[in-house]
Amino acid sequence: MRTGDTYTIAGKVCLGRELELADAEIDVENGIIKSINETGSAGDAAKPWIFPCFFNAHTHLGDTVAMDIETKPGMTLSDLVAPPNGLKHRILSETPSETLIDAITQSLKFMKRSATAGFCDFREGGKEGVNALKTALDNSGTGLKAIILGRNGGETVADGIGISSTKEGEQVLEFAAETRKRGGFVAFHAGEKDTRDVDAAIDAQPDLLIHMTHATDSQLRRCADLGIPIAVCPRSNHILGQSTSNEHPPIRKMLDIGCEILLGTDNVMFVQPDMFAEMAFVSYAYGLTPDEILKMAVAGSKLINNPFFIEEGNIAAFYTINPETSNLRFSRSPKKSVVNRGVFPEF
Ligand SMILES: [Zn+2]
Repeated sequence: MRTGDTYTIAGKVCLGRELELADAEIDVENGIIKSINETGSAGDAAKPWIFPCFFNAHTHLGDTVAMDIETKPGMTLSDLVAPPNGLKHRILSETPSETLIDAITQSLKFMKRSATAGFCDFREGGKEGVNALKTALDNSGTGLKAIILGRNGGETVADGIGISSTKEGEQVLEFAAETRKRGGFVAFHAGEKDTRDVDAAIDAQPDLLIHMTHATDSQLRRCADLGIPIAVCPRSNHILGQSTSNEHPPIRKMLDIGCEILLGTDNVMFVQPDMFAEMAFVSYAYGLTPDEILKMAVAGSKLINNPFFIEEGNIAAFYTINPETSNLRFSRSPKKSVVNRGVFPEF
């Protein structure tokens, strides 16, 4: 990822929203893609691959502090992550802010190393929680672009509000409306466990819905009609026992219905915020095409009005992979290899 300077780079480039692979030269001026000159069709795989960075559309970076904690058999989703008394919230409330900031900083550095250039985070812990993430972002020196969504008052000092579920009660809808009035971003978890918190969340016409693991066809159709993007987090759903098949979340159906699907990694407590690993899992378990998966992993950047797709006028948020140094030089399809193999880039 190289931003903020002026240079020219050439290779096999994954171009634009259509992710067309072509040999090209990219001129970057002050961190912006000034021009792209195609130099030929992508025949030879042995050139640096240049791909757009990822936007992780759903994280909880704060629960890095509880990474891979041993859980008792039979603990439900609510026992683990529901506010205010789920395991994760008990741990967060006992964690000194210095430790919290250190943990978030380390996760941010990992995200940058694994080619993520932006993310949307649900931050617990009110204003203090939001400020901890802001401090970690500054400390990390990663330059990651963030949408920070607070709760319990945190939304007033953040970019908006991240609501755990409409099951929390009428009041959360009022908080959402107030946030919207201030011009803030509104997102809800919905349909993670069942369909019951989905309709009220769609009624609030949020900027983003998370999960929709068990959404019905008609609920998905409403999202498509209203243009509400959905951040799916398949590894989290499987690890937390909310799915055992490719029917939940119904990604294939979501795409066919015309929903806009973004990819997220959810709680760092259970899942590494690694978009390569998330893409590989979706590829194995859901059988989507590399193009569909790559698009889901990059498209969330539209939420920050700074798309990462490699197009003239966009910010230079891309990474390179040098296939010469590994078995990747035998790849017959760079896009398939990037999606399937969890390769790490070079910067
Ligand atoms: Zn979540």
